[in-house]
Amino acid sequence: MKLDTQYQEKFQHRHIAPNQADTEKMLKTIGVNTLDELIAQTVPEKIRLKKPLNLPAAKSEFDYLNTLKQTASKNKVFKSFIGKGYYDVIVPGVIQRNILENPGWYTQYTPYQAEIAQGRLQALLNFQTMVVDLTGMEIANASLLDEGTAAAEAMFMQYSLRKNTNANIFFVSEELFPQTIDILKTRSEPYGIELQIGDHRTVELNENMFGAIVQYPAGNGAVYNYADFAATGHEKGIKLTVVADIMSLVLLTPPGEWGADIVVGTTQRFGVPMGFGGPHAAFFATKDEYKRAIPGRIIGVTIDSAGNYALRMALQTREQHIRRDKATSNICTAQALLAIMAGMYAVYHGPQGVKLIAERIHGLAVLLAKALGELGYKQLNESYFDTLKFDVAHLAGPIHSEALNNEMNFNYEGSVVTISVDETTSPDDIKNIVRFFAKVIGKTINDVNFDELKGDLQTVIPTELQRTSAYLTHSLFNTHHSEHEMLRYIKSLEAKDLSLCHSMIALGSCTMKLNATTEMVPVTWAEFSKIHPFAPADQVGGYMQLFDEINNWLSEITGFAAMSLQPNAGAQGEYAGLMVIRAYHRDRGDHHRNIALIPSSAHGTNPASAAMAGMKIVVVKCDDNGNIDVADMKAKAEQYKNELSCLMVTYPSTHGVFEESIIEICDIIHQNGGQVYMDGANMNAQVGLTSPANIGADVCHLNLHKTFCIPHGGGGPGMGPIGVAKHLVPYLPGHAVVDIDRGKSIHAVSAAPWGSASILIISHAYIAMMGGEGLTNATRYAILNANYIKARLQEHFPVLYTGANGRCAHEMILDCRSFKSFGIEVTDIAKRLMDYGFHAPTVSFPVAGTVMVEPTESEPKHELDRFCDAMIAIRHEIADVASGLLDKTDNPLKNAPHTVSVITGNEWEHPYSRQKAAFPLPYVAAYKFWPSVGRVNDTYGDRTLICSCPPLTDYEFEESEVTTPEYGT
Ligand SMILES: *Cc1c(COP(=O)(O)O)cnc(C)c1O
Repeated sequence: MKLDTQYQEKFQHRHIAPNQADTEKMLKTIGVNTLDELIAQTVPEKIRLKKPLNLPAAKSEFDYLNTLKQTASKNKVFKSFIGKGYYDVIVPGVIQRNILENPGWYTQYTPYQAEIAQGRLQALLNFQTMVVDLTGMEIANASLLDEGTAAAEAMFMQYSLRKNTNANIFFVSEELFPQTIDILKTRSEPYGIELQIGDHRTVELNENMFGAIVQYPAGNGAVYNYADFAATGHEKGIKLTVVADIMSLVLLTPPGEWGADIVVGTTQRFGVPMGFGGPHAAFFATKDEYKRAIPGRIIGVTIDSAGNYALRMALQTREQHIRRDKATSNICTAQALLAIMAGMYAVYHGPQGVKLIAERIHGLAVLLAKALGELGYKQLNESYFDTLKFDVAHLAGPIHSEALNNEMNFNYEGSVVTISVDETTSPDDIKNIVRFFAKVIGKTINDVNFDELKGDLQTVIPTELQRTSAYLTHSLFNTHHSEHEMLRYIKSLEAKDLSLCHSMIALGSCTMKLNATTEMVPVTWAEFSKIHPFAPADQVGGYMQLFDEINNWLSEITGFAAMSLQPNAGAQGEYAGLMVIRAYHRDRGDHHRNIALIPSSAHGTNPASAAMAGMKIVVVKCDDNGNIDVADMKAKAEQYKNELSCLMVTYPSTHGVFEESIIEICDIIHQNGGQVYMDGANMNAQVGLTSPANIGADVCHLNLHKTFCIPHGGGGPGMGPIGVAKHLVPYLPGHAVVDIDRGKSIHAVSAAPWGSASILIISHAYIAMMGGEGLTNATRYAILNANYIKARLQEHFPVLYTGANGRCAHEMILDCRSFKSFGIEVTDIAKRLMDYGFHAPTVSFPVAGTVMVEPTESEPKHELDRFCDAMIAIRHEIADVASGLLDKTDNPLKNAPHTVSVITGNEWEHPYSRQKAAFPLPYVAAYKFWPSVGRVNDTYGDRTLICSCPPLTDYEFEESEVTTPEYGT
């Protein structure tokens, strides 16, 4: 027996799947002797890093969690009464364990392949229905990134829809949360929108305004009746956005009933932890007539190939890729997982449950106001839901220190103290507060008669603002209230969705790698999840240490001087980076530099973000090898040298190739006065081998939900921090509430100072456990796995682009366009893959009629082989269609995916067997994943748009044709 006291399991061997024996076999198939040789043939020598990454030694999983516990203990979990858009919550255990902590939900991809995503599509439809009900509006989307950016999206939608094109003033109530106003400042300026910030009670609305925004309840808690304000605005052609607190809408007349055109807000307090700022799902609801202008994704009802109820993403889902700089918004990754949680909170509690919760919150607030009133404190909000406002004059100091002694945080602004009650507040908390408020004026709690106060609790919401309309009336919100029912409901939806729990998801450009359990575990530790983003600095030492480390590590990895951890998605990072570039130029007097050169192969968010940053887009061509056409780029850089702001470039390109000319490209841009923005979506091919700074970029965003292991959550959350070179550091985003100013900071781009702070832990864990060597190996194996797939598939599917030595980077494009002549579309291949148990790779990006395959380092050879076998088998099926062996239209590709009800139906009239349809390869029989619906009908759904849960009686089809949706009635 060996007693190895040095034994430390290396996490990199868990994260990187291929073992040594398989690696050798794969290298042989590729036709190289060593991995080093493959990398040398793939990554051009002149861009290679000369030194290994300088990162702390890798920690084992066990050691990491122990060390992190120490870091976590530097965060102090005080009771939060700060409010301002963030409230402590009780996450129902059944939701926490079975959704938030469950890889069956958090490792799903965005539901582009609807047939294997019906579970989360239903959950998101529930969310939309909940939002529509509570806001009193007609249509809602399936989440935005946070309340502040949702408000900015609303402003822009109002601006786009304005009738009077000379109107450029947007009225902003001064009682919005400061972080929301901050984001409106950032987002309005590039469009030339003028913000008029003031008091809604005295402002004179006029024809130069295209829109207005107010908050309900207002920032300091007051509940105003805005009905007249809305009506006056409408007379002048002014649309009204209302930022609303979702919990308050249970008791308040919803904005849709008194004149709102758009209602936005956060759903955080529906069972999603504060997490020091995020992630949380924002909502966006509006009138049906504006449905085509809504930012983000909308889930809609349609039918499948058998005429059954089915769901899919509707309308502008892929809008950025089609409309580019004309897109309504740059939102790509949103907050699906958190929207699902919030929707499930409503499903679990139902209308009665949420009413009890809202009434308890309101009741405790009223009780506190009355009790403090008896002590002589005057509460200033005439009407309120959960937030009390006191001007305590010289007592602010003593109250502040007593609150800290009691481990409570209030919100302080000069002599004004605001206290927000939440779902976790108890009657004892109220008594404690009263006790020390009494103490500071030399009284005691006995001066307050609680029993009498409790016996006579009246709402302070005026009658005309008391909600009378019903909400959450659909049966799905009135069924699953016992834990068993809820558990089974969650599981029944989960079972419909293919996730990384089932098979690899080779999503080109979207890097679906391992989301290790150890990386996920700390996210729900109270020391991280129960911290308010505006908690005092001396209570968040743990988070600060974590940010410091991530900042240093990501700076080392990118080669940049510093990072901003604020952007909460990749596209937000793009926007932040471009705004930083803009600020830099303007600071130097270069106000006219507003041209962004963008290659035609760029992701759709690039032009959409550039447009939002006020830039004019000039498209640069690609050559026949998929590389940027350097001559074209140079000509354009020179033509616009006086107006050039930047180049946006993805590296390695979205064509899956390390362009040799990248250094020259960056030089040309710099010579012409521009900056280089690198889209870091493909960092999985760079880490440890090269870096954005090394190549010559000035700014880059990282998609932590791609390269750095934050799971996709079925369409979010994500994080898109940006790294910048030294000259750009002073312009990195600031924040209106928490001082993170760098000297010349631009206004905030996200509501919280460090974005979705709590999931940064995941990337922190990944880097800490991999170390420099592990991270570099991850890149090497990602390239190995991709080239192995390429070697196996290239004789069956042409590989569109390769590097100088015939290698691909970490992904490759398989050309499927030639099959069109036999009537086979790339979609048919994508759908047929489901019958083999796989999620399709990226379809038709960046080249229409192709798929882009990215296996990542986390897939073992065995899984790559299963995928290749499926692709080859499909290729044979295509050949059989071409040769006439299979029917031109009635074949397994056209009819894919095959559901269990089709396969086991009494009738089978297809000219191929059921066996071939459902079990086309032996391995499929061993572990079959059944798509829950047949191919969804997109056109049908867009024609008859239904975006909330339909009552079955209203449903358009014959009863007999409709499969009862899982919520039943
Ligand atoms: C994913 C991706 C983006 C957008 O990132 P989000 O986090 O979805 O906003 C931008 N560019 C490329 C190349 C991408 O793959």
